[in-house]
Amino acid sequence: TVVTVGLGERSYPVVIEPGLLARAGGHLAPLARGRRMVIVADGNVGPHLATLQAALSGAGVATEAVTTRAGEGAKSWASLERLCDRLLELGVERGDHIVALGGGVVGDLVGFAAAILKRSCGFVQVPTTLLAQVDSSVGGKTGINARAGKNLIGAFHQPALVLIDPDVLDTLPPRELRAGYAEVVKYGLIDDPDFFGWCEANGAALLAGDKAAQVHAIAHSVAAKARIVAADERETTGVRALLNLGHTFGHALEAEAGYDGSLLHGEAVAAGMALAFRYSVRRGLCPAEDAERVAAHLRVSDLPDGLRGVTASGERLVEHMRHDKKASGGVLPFLLARGIGRTFLDRSVDLADIARFLDEEPR
Ligand code: NAD
Ligand code: ZN
Repeated sequence: TVVTVGLGERSYPVVIEPGLLARAGGHLAPLARGRRMVIVADGNVGPHLATLQAALSGAGVATEAVTTRAGEGAKSWASLERLCDRLLELGVERGDHIVALGGGVVGDLVGFAAAILKRSCGFVQVPTTLLAQVDSSVGGKTGINARAGKNLIGAFHQPALVLIDPDVLDTLPPRELRAGYAEVVKYGLIDDPDFFGWCEANGAALLAGDKAAQVHAIAHSVAAKARIVAADERETTGVRALLNLGHTFGHALEAEAGYDGSLLHGEAVAAGMALAFRYSVRRGLCPAEDAERVAAHLRVSDLPDGLRGVTASGERLVEHMRHDKKASGGVLPFLLARGIGRTFLDRSVDLADIARFLDEEPR
């Protein structure tokens, strides 16, 4: 399957195909232009790096591998500096394409390095987590974390190509697979009730490793993201903001947990989506059955469906939201729902009311 992200002269294809890594040479050789390609990977994707290097070598493309450390800590100034220095040492030029092989962390870091290296060079995303395959590798948001918060330093820089091989998910820890699945479910909840129904029927197979289910979910999610990004590349009209469903609550939970791996991004988003639906019920916007259906699907997918185990007060969680980069002039846009597949942006949510709601949620 090929999905095109339509952005005029910056348009690019997203190729989705089991076994693609071993056949990546044909896709990448034209971008190499006879030069050596640099592949940046984290230490946990070694076997996939070997497959990709062999594929390129088979297509007559020499490669150089650069390894970054695994985990969110790699989205830092220190890693960015090290990576840029290494890429310059390797003689990367403006017309070159750097290959990012890994999860969202590697993709965000390499994409940002590519955005600023020699005032911008090319890059290719080869995402290896479900989260990166359905979300972060497409759309051109790149960046690192600052002391003041996540993703506060960055650039919009679109890749030239995205290669998605669902087979690489077979080595991903099951918990990471489930966390990525939360973002798949998100696309159904945003504006596609039929796809949410598909998730209810096929989510278990996807999580058990069924390739046909994975390919369908990835292709559908990428197509949805491509549509949204093409409509609002830089998140200025409010369309792209729909992708943040569950993220305002989720980011508060992540900040409270402390990015130490105890709560994965997708897990926080799952809890956040359940909360967004229940808050919408409380506001009289959404039927209670819809919120219950969302929570039930998250539960059977072994994902959080609310605040169970969270001890922070509503006010404390709201304090994290006030620092959200989407907050401006004391107002934080919130995504609410009129039902499954019927979400909208509300710019008049009262944070004191959110704090009361969170205090009343079951723990
Ligand atoms: P990640 O990159 O940290 O990967 C999760 C873990 O899985 C890591 O330990 C990694 O080494 C390991 N791993 C990756 N692929 C593997 C494989 N195939 N087999 C075995 N292990 C593998 O995390 P992630 O969830 O992919 O991405 C999270 C990051 O993405 C966050 O920093 C978030 O801010 C960012 N993000 C960016 C966007 C965007 O639009 N740019 C969107 C959503 C999230
Ligand atoms: Zn997310």
